[in-house]
Amino acid sequence: MILDCGRFSGPCECGREHPLETKLVVVDYGCLNDFDRYMAECGLTGRRTVIYDTNTYNLPGMVHVRADKELVLEAKGLHSEQGMIESIIPQLDDPEVIVTVGSGTLMDFARYPANKLGIPFVAIPTLASSDGFTANICSVVVDGQKKSIPMHAPALVCADLNIISGAPMFLTVSGIADILSKYISLADWKIAHLVSGEYFCERTAAAAQEALELMAGCADRMLKGGEPDYEAMTMAQMISGISMQMLGNSRAASGAEHLIAHLVEMKPPRFENAHGIHGECVGVGTVLCAEAYHRMAEKTPKARPFRPLDEAWVREKFGPLAGGILKENEHDVLAAFDPQNIVDHWDEIREIIAGIPRAADIAWTLHALGGKYSLSDIGIDESLRGEVLDISAAIRNRLTLARMSRVLDFDG
Ligand SMILES: [Zn+2]
Ligand SMILES: [Zn+2]
Repeated sequence: MILDCGRFSGPCECGREHPLETKLVVVDYGCLNDFDRYMAECGLTGRRTVIYDTNTYNLPGMVHVRADKELVLEAKGLHSEQGMIESIIPQLDDPEVIVTVGSGTLMDFARYPANKLGIPFVAIPTLASSDGFTANICSVVVDGQKKSIPMHAPALVCADLNIISGAPMFLTVSGIADILSKYISLADWKIAHLVSGEYFCERTAAAAQEALELMAGCADRMLKGGEPDYEAMTMAQMISGISMQMLGNSRAASGAEHLIAHLVEMKPPRFENAHGIHGECVGVGTVLCAEAYHRMAEKTPKARPFRPLDEAWVREKFGPLAGGILKENEHDVLAAFDPQNIVDHWDEIREIIAGIPRAADIAWTLHALGGKYSLSDIGIDESLRGEVLDISAAIRNRLTLARMSRVLDFDG
């Protein structure tokens, strides 16, 4: 199946044009056999460096595409760290296009140098465990801090399902969870737009919704005993990534639920044993948010005046990471509108929340697929349940319903 990227870009009612760097997305069994043709279709005929790691190079069924220069990185210890990525640039041998074969980390090893050298890059994903492939964001560690840096998106994505369908099941399920999270991220975006007037684009939201429905359908059929539909699942990842490219940020695809994954990566005090890959943590976050949001919808809150995050609280919860958190919250999005707006729109917010499945249903889906769904599944102590969303909401200055709970009183 070929994704027509043209339908996502062009003048939009929101006032923007949503230019896309990704010209072509091919998702099919055996599509790597036609790789040269797809490259030519995208005008990518120049000198080509192809990057693998020792795992992806030796994957069963791997088709090694033609290369002017091949670079096989040692998989052990490979991670998206600025210094490590920059150190490979001299070995690329002066390419006109970089092709990368692998998962998220390998994407960063092409995306970052391509950006630096001002050349296009091409993605050959070997897994569909998250939606970062078609995004234009690079997630790298700079000076010890994880940063999301806006960057180029791949000009071409060629996802060979012969390879992707061979990935271990827990990675596939992690990919399902990463897309089911759109129940929360889309609700957060719609609510933020409603109460603060934050920019919102129907077309971008519809793309994320399309990815969500495609994936929810796949999960449903698997639960009924059907075979995994790798084509539809991979396409859902691609479309979700496109929604990030349309905006140049992850607003449609990442809300309060995604911050649980950030929390696990950051490991503040009491979260030292937290673990899990991106989609697994996001799945747990989705269950937590669904539970909290439905509980909020049962009541009608009163507005509380905005107060900046308490510095002592931040220091207690984040320990050595407190400095970065305080800086992130310097210009708190909560301060930009009247909290009473939330209360005034509560009926509409309740309606948005009604569109989110019940926490127990999401948890059951993830559980039945063999995925992770509870805090203890990702090494977080159950005793932290009551505060985990408050802590994670402080990690990113993005307006979510979880963050809004700071200016809402449900007990009065
Ligand atoms: Zn738009
Ligand atoms: Zn994600």
